[in-house]
Amino acid sequence: MKISLSSPHITPLERRAILGVLETPNLSRGPKVREFEERLASYIGVSYGVAVNSGTSGLHLSIKALGLKEGDEVITTPFSFISSSNCLLMEGIKPVFIDIDPLTYNLNPDLIEEKITPKTKSILPVHIFGCPVEMDKIQNIAKKYKLFVIEDACEAIGAKYKGGFVGKYGNVSVLAFYPNKQITTGEGGMVLTNDENIAELCRSMRCHGFNENRLCVRLGYNYHMDEMSAALGLAQLSRIEEILEKRENIAERYIEKLSGIEEIILPYTPNEVKRSWFVFTIRVTNGKRDKVMNYLLKSGIECKPYFDPPIHLHPLYKERFGYKKGDFPITEKISRESLALPFHNNLKEEDIDYVVDKLKKAIKNVTR
Ligand SMILES: *Cc1c(COP(=O)(O)O)cnc(C)c1O
Repeated sequence: MKISLSSPHITPLERRAILGVLETPNLSRGPKVREFEERLASYIGVSYGVAVNSGTSGLHLSIKALGLKEGDEVITTPFSFISSSNCLLMEGIKPVFIDIDPLTYNLNPDLIEEKITPKTKSILPVHIFGCPVEMDKIQNIAKKYKLFVIEDACEAIGAKYKGGFVGKYGNVSVLAFYPNKQITTGEGGMVLTNDENIAELCRSMRCHGFNENRLCVRLGYNYHMDEMSAALGLAQLSRIEEILEKRENIAERYIEKLSGIEEIILPYTPNEVKRSWFVFTIRVTNGKRDKVMNYLLKSGIECKPYFDPPIHLHPLYKERFGYKKGDFPITEKISRESLALPFHNNLKEEDIDYVVDKLKKAIKNVTR
């Protein structure tokens, strides 16, 4: 028995889409990228989409397009994938972390104001595990202090906050399409914005900093998404409702079968939002996480902490900013307890049953 942690949901539609591109002369910088940008922007409900070769490049371009620079500070969460913060370090910007909400694991908006200084330029919320951040509060604070909002929606395509899709609440927002995300392009990402100027800057910086006459007018990069990736993304986007619904069903099966087990905390989604299921991360309390994880791994069940260590305890961050253990107690506790279980559209009922069975045995049998 071997059950993988994640797996993209690829059908003949996706295969045909990629093969179709291979029969054209355009493997990059062609019509599929433009179509993917238009379709995705209109799905989310924003004016512009700029496709790039990863979520990380999208975040990097967003920061540059907003004019953030060395010495600035951005308030963000330590409980995230490393890239939501690394993108700041790329430009010499200081990530100012705040602790998270113990239920949603998203940054706690009530802790933002006390961290604002004259150097603060932006708030960078991450919709962690596809659960929407309270964007109303973020937007109110941003307005009050004239800050930008950069929305890291890389784990949350299709999630809804107050009726609208996440990805439309920031001055600029970013989606990602790595193979473990809800929809994939292989590697890939998308910058979303309603601001024409930001979109133009991102397009230019994605392409070496060229202007319309191919003169380099600013520092740029090669962050293009290729046509095969865009074609794959278009096929996946055309099935997004089906994909998200399947993921939700699987999450519901897990929740049903795992509820009531002591020593496990299940994902919590506030009533007023719609989560887009990215990973299925439980918490194993009482200090047993690592032993439970090893038991599952030995049973052929792929699983891993999500995220441990939190960003502020990675060596680079400790060395550069002096962050240390104890700085963000809620984040650190949840990190230590977190365990992501196999979660993808190819999971069968018997796979779920097997995981649940082994997990129950692990909880019962391992000692601290
Ligand atoms: C996946 C992800 C990204 C982007 O990752 P890439 O691999 O560069 O596409 C950024 N932020 C978060 C929170 C993510 O989960």
